[in-house]
Amino acid sequence: MASTSTTETEQSTEEPAEQESALQTARRQLRHAADHLDIDPNIVERLEHPKSVHEVTVPIERDDGSVDVFTGYRAQHDSVRGPHKGGLRFHPEVTRDECVGLGMWMTWKCAVMDLPFGGAKGGISVNPKELSDREKEQLTRRFTEELRDVIGPTVDIPAPDMGTDPQTMAWLMDAYSMQEGETIPGVVTGKPPVVGGSKGRDSAPGRSVAIIAREAIDYYEKDIRETSVAIQGYGSVGANAARLLDEWGANVVALSDVNGGIYDTNGLDTHSIPTHHEEPEAVMTHDAPETVSNDELLELDVDVLIPAAVGNVLTADNADAVQADLIVEGANGPTTSAASEIFAERDIPVIPDILANAGGVTVSYFEWLQDINRRAWSLERVNDELETEMLAAWHDVREELEERDVTWRDAAYIVALSRVAEAHDARGLWP
Ligand code: GLU
Repeated sequence: MASTSTTETEQSTEEPAEQESALQTARRQLRHAADHLDIDPNIVERLEHPKSVHEVTVPIERDDGSVDVFTGYRAQHDSVRGPHKGGLRFHPEVTRDECVGLGMWMTWKCAVMDLPFGGAKGGISVNPKELSDREKEQLTRRFTEELRDVIGPTVDIPAPDMGTDPQTMAWLMDAYSMQEGETIPGVVTGKPPVVGGSKGRDSAPGRSVAIIAREAIDYYEKDIRETSVAIQGYGSVGANAARLLDEWGANVVALSDVNGGIYDTNGLDTHSIPTHHEEPEAVMTHDAPETVSNDELLELDVDVLIPAAVGNVLTADNADAVQADLIVEGANGPTTSAASEIFAERDIPVIPDILANAGGVTVSYFEWLQDINRRAWSLERVNDELETEMLAAWHDVREELEERDVTWRDAAYIVALSRVAEAHDARGLWP
């Protein structure tokens, strides 16, 4: 396995640039939050850099007998509060810097939820839609083997992310366990329940988005039954958030997948629209009075906008045209720094990803506990404990928001960074 050094390949600038990488956004957000806190600048300097980044090549034999070689990464940002934790994505745009930036976000996400984990993210630069199931399995098994020395239940615990799913995690667990000579379910979370996965893990990111949206709607003194919602993305985050908000009385008026969206001011029946998992890319096949493009969906006149697909969709180019009164980030990094500034000027609250979609990693933590204890929890227990954890984190962030008069993102970062910095301070620098 080849390991790269942590040499910087991108410098962040002071002015937010459009097209900024996840790493640039993450660094800017870190410095912004640090400005509000009395933190040792050496700790902030440390946190701007990942602890390590592992780069590997992953060869697979294609179904036609040829061999293709893909590049994979695992960026481990910080582990002061516990083992590294974060997803693995299979996506053509995966890069080293994207993994570092997303790994940094995982550190804050785990800290804002007060979970005993640090941050990491990894992935392979590949289009999974172009692979057969057999090829995907080979790719996952070989990638696991290449990363075997740097992952493990007390070291770094991957999970699903864009382009990966419970089946991918089952292959990863099997590949790791076979080499270790024993079944080790705690090496990965987001597995199917039959091999130690947690009930409710699949729906957890969407559930947390819905819980946080509900709390935010209430905070801004609106009645959820009189609230219209537009959601971009109908995968595990968007679809689960849509269905829960619909159940709780919200008027879900627009939904989309990669092909575009549907719009009905009277509200959509979310349960009759197949999620990506139930039937990929089926949103547009559903009858609705109007169709919209993914760009148009973001600019609809709604009360709540939930971008729950890919990153960098709210930018300086469209932030002025957004008509929603509240934005809840379902995807990781949907808002660029420049767009965040515009929303702050326009007084549009943006509840950040590291709080809103943190239900995924929170139930991952529950799964890890269940694996260690060899004891499964009921779905009811998972959902109850998730609700409790989300409300506790919401409360901590809200307190910072009110005390310091900052944005929701800054408030969440302040909660997270204080916890991480305090842990660094307590542990000190070794040697
Ligand atoms: N990939 C998910 C995220 O971005 C979950 C990570 C995990 O469960 O470790 O939060």
